[in-house]
Amino acid sequence: MATGEFDLIGQYFTHKLVSRDDVIAGIGDDCAILSVPAGKQLVVTTDTMVIGVHFLADADPVDVAHKLVAVNISDIAAMGGQPAWASLALTLPNYDSGWLSAFSDSLHQQLHRYGVSLIGGDTTKGQMTLTLTLQGFVEQGKALRRCGAQAGDLIYCSGTIGDAAAGLKLLIDADKKTTEKLTENIDEESLADADKDFLIARHQRPTARIATGQALIGIASSCIDLSDGLASDLKHILNVSSRVSGVALSANIELSALPISTALQSYVSKALWPQYALAGGDDYELLFTVSAENQAQLETIMAEQGLPYSHIGEIVNVEQTEKTETQQIHYFNDKQLTSLALQGWDHFQ
Ligand SMILES: [Mg+2]
Repeated sequence: MATGEFDLIGQYFTHKLVSRDDVIAGIGDDCAILSVPAGKQLVVTTDTMVIGVHFLADADPVDVAHKLVAVNISDIAAMGGQPAWASLALTLPNYDSGWLSAFSDSLHQQLHRYGVSLIGGDTTKGQMTLTLTLQGFVEQGKALRRCGAQAGDLIYCSGTIGDAAAGLKLLIDADKKTTEKLTENIDEESLADADKDFLIARHQRPTARIATGQALIGIASSCIDLSDGLASDLKHILNVSSRVSGVALSANIELSALPISTALQSYVSKALWPQYALAGGDDYELLFTVSAENQAQLETIMAEQGLPYSHIGEIVNVEQTEKTETQQIHYFNDKQLTSLALQGWDHFQ
């Protein structure tokens, strides 16, 4: 780098820190010294974002920092945790003060939003790669896990899904300045600006559902945040819950119950809603299961959250489905079993 590592950290990352009593020593020594409150367990997660893989090469550093924080905090939310501390590993191809200034301002803004103190970091030179490690707390033994789903549990998700994939598609099409489209069912020209902005914001600036995750403690039997797409993420719950319980589980999903935003409804035809909602990914909503006996309690706490949520299906024993064990999710359209061929897609290819 044109300037030393210490200058870079000092200039951009050591001021505007969130002050927390549990940070005994933050940036500036060989290690941070931190106090875990009595009765709490640590939850720890790391996410890496690589240029051209997780964000577009011309992405605004404000958005990149926003998303870097949100995707990590979202993992803490999925455990029902309270985020506390972050450390940042920054690999940059060159010293770009404009980029660093915008990135660090946005990073600090997001860390303040969630009450997280930056307690350490490292910088190196190379292809732009951003790694954030987040640590948070959860009450002893109370963390939401992926492994607790049981047959009969109801499947829910928060918010709306599929928006982020549509937002990314809009950005890429604008980048390419081409009319190439995923399918001929997409009509970007007639999409209202407000809908476009909403979908793009859902991709660039997701919100981690911290309060919702915490409210689900003691109510949800399993939980995961939606990063890869509902179809993939639900399989994680099914796989690990099946393994832990020793009972092979599958899921029935009702397509007509999927929460599709009005913006996404305007963007793609109804036939494509499941593709975006189930395979799109990057929505950072919570997908969770609740036993029937906890359903009333769930309705009470979600009403307090003020966040839309949808009952989209049920967990079932594989034996009950009359289908092969290899197909873990069965899709229904207005209660009629339907076949659904979801295409994975990689926008960066
Ligand atoms: Mg996750």
